[in-house]
Amino acid sequence: MPAKCKIFLWRLSKSFLPTFANLQQRRLPVRNTCPFCESCADSIDHLTFFCPTTLQILAYVGLPPVPAFHSNDFGETFAKWFTQQNKSQQLLLSVSYWAIWYARNKLVHEGVIARDSQGLIMTAGVDRAGGATRTPP
Ligand SMILES: [Zn+2]
Repeated sequence: MPAKCKIFLWRLSKSFLPTFANLQQRRLPVRNTCPFCESCADSIDHLTFFCPTTLQILAYVGLPPVPAFHSNDFGETFAKWFTQQNKSQQLLLSVSYWAIWYARNKLVHEGVIARDSQGLIMTAGVDRAGGATRTPP
């Protein structure tokens, strides 16, 4: 697994990503709306488990549906779901979430819109097998 995906996964599981919800908790004046669906707060659990874009990406790359179980502890829920996957699914999940976060940031900071799952994956430079189609910056 690429080091940047491991680091990203650790930050995701600890809710350390600068989502708009996390930035608002730090009292930064941001609009707290998911940049993909614009219908919910941009929180870590929305981005990981509920955003229609995320669900579309996970289905596109052939990953199982997100868990039906949820506790109030995002890290616990994520860790339980992640460890239930086999090694290749864990790798694909890691790269997919990294790609989703990368595409989210491209949209937030540069206005680059991935129109569908394939476009989002290509924006992030990741193919269905979890390999790089190009090296993102
Ligand atoms: Zn969303």
